[in-house]
Amino acid sequence: MTKIKMREQDPAERVKNFNEVAMGLSEEDAVAEAKRCLQCKKALCMSGCPVEIDIPAFIKDIVEGKYEKALFKIREKNSLPAVCGRVCPQEDQCEKACVLSKKGAPIGIGYLERFVADWELKKKREYVAHTDLPKESPAHKKHAHGKKVAVIGSGPAGLTCAGDLANMGYDVTVFESLHKPGGVLMYGIPEFRLPKAIVEAEMNYVKHIGVKLEVNFLAGKTGTIDELREQGFKAFFVGIGAGLPYFLGVEGENLNGIYSANEFLTRTNLMKAYLFPEYDTPIRVGERVGVVGAGNVAMDSARCALRLGAKEVSIIYRRSEQEMPARREEIIRAKEEGIRFELLTNPTKFFGDEKGWVKGAELLRNELGAPDASGRRRPVPIKGSEFRMKLDTVIIAVGQGSNPLLPATLPDLKVTDDGTIVCNDDLMTSIPGVFAGGDIVTGAATVISAMGMGKKAARSIDKYLMS
Ligand code: FAD
Ligand code: SF4
Ligand code: SF4
Repeated sequence: MTKIKMREQDPAERVKNFNEVAMGLSEEDAVAEAKRCLQCKKALCMSGCPVEIDIPAFIKDIVEGKYEKALFKIREKNSLPAVCGRVCPQEDQCEKACVLSKKGAPIGIGYLERFVADWELKKKREYVAHTDLPKESPAHKKHAHGKKVAVIGSGPAGLTCAGDLANMGYDVTVFESLHKPGGVLMYGIPEFRLPKAIVEAEMNYVKHIGVKLEVNFLAGKTGTIDELREQGFKAFFVGIGAGLPYFLGVEGENLNGIYSANEFLTRTNLMKAYLFPEYDTPIRVGERVGVVGAGNVAMDSARCALRLGAKEVSIIYRRSEQEMPARREEIIRAKEEGIRFELLTNPTKFFGDEKGWVKGAELLRNELGAPDASGRRRPVPIKGSEFRMKLDTVIIAVGQGSNPLLPATLPDLKVTDDGTIVCNDDLMTSIPGVFAGGDIVTGAATVISAMGMGKKAARSIDKYLMS
């Protein structure tokens, strides 16, 4: 039997809206999929989950129709199940490790996780209104000892760390520089892949278990860690992500109409350009858009540009399809939507009009050479293969680095040459009592790996404050 297929909006329709593409499983399909699980004694799937959810247990609950119990089983390890069920790269994690994947059809673990999380949301039950939570539910725990911990950054790493510390009895405040919490979940990943109402609902849960939230607080500028120490905070978790965009460094890259993916997606998602004219914050993309890069960020940018009205959107990538870092299913969806793939191609310069707006790019064709340090085959330029492409908007999505602002205010904080924060095995930085995790430590990675580090740091902070 093959893995269940999730219903999706039709490509011709979905390119005209920002509604979620993947529509979730029906109850019947979810139970049928759950029944395929072999309930292995040695559940290999769990070894593929960075936060070690008891996967067979929650799947068994689904088979028995005990969806709430399934949700609590997941929440023991993962405070953002509706998010992870949608954006986790399951094909490289839990599902890859599932024993059935060797036979080609792993259990749709992510789909099932999403199913129970959505089941709860559909019932429109506010977590705050829960009166029937099981005894072991975190929502019944109070600030046992009330020691104050500050979490800087409200992405998945910060939110997970904050949630776990609140469950342990700490008085936790999250400080976030933007006006909305959620990190990349809120400003980066578009509505059609991760609806913001879902992120907000997951956030309500974290608030409900006692976490306080202070937005518009740029740590290092609005206040420093030393100032927070004076206010009684005893330990810190830094989860400020990797939000500093990289550029190509080629001629013409500062022309108008050339955006970093970070700016483009923030304007589209957080500033709600996609809801213009309801929100007075439009973004003009013109007819032809080029997106440089082929990771999740590039796919998201390309698909947003299409939905914002562009007629032709091209992914420009220097290697071949095999090396593209984006999730396979997102590449397939991008193709279904009509995104063009200009592979083995690199822009060498951008040219503009007399008013300084981009008009196009000069590009060079590559062929693949020997593998480089990343293990992927190196792109080698083909001499004389230059060609031009007309473009009205260019989005650069070739990776992000660490934001240097906060580390610059902490002279004793050890950082690598790339700007990532150096931590010991307990995720403590070179400053006692200051811990870190997520993309600011690993460099750009995944939601679930950031959450895994947030969890680990919470345990270490507890150990530190209790010793
Ligand atoms: P972030 O999510 O970046 O959160 C950091 C937060 O800290 C932000 O809210 C920021 O505003 C705040 N901050 C920064 N500096 C300060 C400061 N000085 N003071 C206060 N607050 C501060 N991963 C997947 O697993 N699946 C996907 O499909 C996927 N798609 C992605 C698509 C896009 C467009 C992007 C950009 C990333 C994607 N990722 C995906 C990667 C994933 O989102 C990140 O790895 C993850 O969000 C990292 O979490 P984090 O908590 O470390 O940081
Ligand atoms: Fe799989 Fe991610 Fe859920 Fe873990 S959190 S079980 S990796 S979908
Ligand atoms: Fe079920 Fe696969 Fe995990 Fe076995 S490895 S328990 S079949 S999900």
